Amino acid sequence: MKEQDYKYKTINPYNNEFVKGFPNTTDDEIKETLEISDKLYHDWKKQDISERAKILKNIAKVFRENSDELAKIATIDMGKLISESKGEVEVCAMIADYFADNAEEMLKPKKINTIATGEATVEMNSTGVIMAVEPWNFPYYQIMRVFAPNFMVGNPMILKDAANIPTSAQTFEDMVIKAGAPKGSITNLFISYDQVSDIIADKRVQGVALTGSERGGKSVAQIAGANIKKSTMELGGMDAFIVLGDADMEQVNKTAFGARLANAGQVCVSAKRFIVMDNVYDEFLENLKDNFEKVIPGDPLDTKTTLAPMNTKKAKDKLQQQVDEAISAGAKVYYGNEPIDLEGQFFQPTILTDIYKENPAYHTEMFGPVAHVYKVHSEQEAIDLANDSDFGLGGIVFAGDENHGAEVASKLETGMVYVNSFVVTLPELPFGGVKNSGYGREMSELGLKAFVNEKLILKAPKPDFENLAGGIG
Ligand code: NAP
Repeated sequence: MKEQDYKYKTINPYNNEFVKGFPNTTDDEIKETLEISDKLYHDWKKQDISERAKILKNIAKVFRENSDELAKIATIDMGKLISESKGEVEVCAMIADYFADNAEEMLKPKKINTIATGEATVEMNSTGVIMAVEPWNFPYYQIMRVFAPNFMVGNPMILKDAANIPTSAQTFEDMVIKAGAPKGSITNLFISYDQVSDIIADKRVQGVALTGSERGGKSVAQIAGANIKKSTMELGGMDAFIVLGDADMEQVNKTAFGARLANAGQVCVSAKRFIVMDNVYDEFLENLKDNFEKVIPGDPLDTKTTLAPMNTKKAKDKLQQQVDEAISAGAKVYYGNEPIDLEGQFFQPTILTDIYKENPAYHTEMFGPVAHVYKVHSEQEAIDLANDSDFGLGGIVFAGDENHGAEVASKLETGMVYVNSFVVTLPELPFGGVKNSGYGREMSELGLKAFVNEKLILKAPKPDFENLAGGIG
């Protein structure tokens, strides 16, 4: 088969070379996957959870042992810096370790105080096969966020990953099997949107987890809803990075550029809107520009490179179009928006100012290295501007006093806010948003229980038939 015949293919965004294509999964292969996954679900119900904990610990070990190979594959698939890929593999191992160590305790039955006669308990039961639809920006981490908790719960996972990172997706499954997990624990398929819908409709599938765009989320959530399947949606964001007038500017300046440029700007919780108080605005802008100017574009496998290419030509072209539209609608280019003379999908870090409500950029997520910077004159104006968005994923507040920063954080309509810090992702911290950024949480105890049947069992003492009969009669 030729490059153009594959839907699922790795094209290295650094040099545009076609690396490998994967044929589409057939309907018969899907049928077989559903049978294997469902059988495993029933087998796991009879198995002690500690058995899966041992395997998950081993998955963490295998990820660490194969870190170099995994990292290289992710970098060639979607272009991120090799140091970022290695960091991602380590976070995956941490997630696997965390759920292996803690899930058993978190999934223990919980007693409920009740006025009903008898003893009420809520059990945490598995529910069935989970369909996970995942994006390309963190080729392993996005999968692990759903896989590790559901593996412990006893819900096998079917994966449809983004079409441009098939090598990473297949490698994830291969590593899990290599670590001793039974076939069907996770099955990566190269499927169409229609095949995803068919799988969701199958009665053996009981949950749908999607991370991706608002557009993809809307389509898949509709299908989940039509089939009465529980779903979690981790969608886009336009996170605000608020700088209050008394913030420690040294810390702000150290943090701001990375908050926008990490992963070539392709992070759902990247700081996309910098909202800066007037007294520190000029200093902030100047410093952001200085740091944007310093990036070194190049081969992401070379450790000297600090600006990676974007993941595909399509993504770069879309970003360019969004920037052009923003400028036509009145935005000013404070820095950047010049071509980079390399054959890969590089986009120069760019700073836009003077974006007002009528500008499409005010409302649109730009998924690449473009910062929107706003000047505000009061704290309330900063909060109102941050909340004037259809999205509600994360956010950052820098304040002189962290307690005051936390008060501002409480007023933001998002699922996560970090005060005086960059976004950190750790397995014990819940991850997710509100509004068009989706619903449900991944990671932490909340993520572990996303697809659990919290089942009430009320154990009454010996029934009193005489009184019961009297009661009924
Ligand atoms: P996308 O187009 O929605 O793709 C994400 C995944 O969904 C891919 O596997 C894609 O498959 C699949 N997909 C899209 N439409 C579908 C449909 N109708 N039926 C079945 N599958 C469908 O998202 P993207 O633009 O590549 O990813 C970037 C977006 O993800 C950004 O908006 C970012 O903010 C968001 N994101 C959110 C989080 C979070 O945790 N909240 C984390 C990371 C990224 P194909 O590749 O085959 O199209």
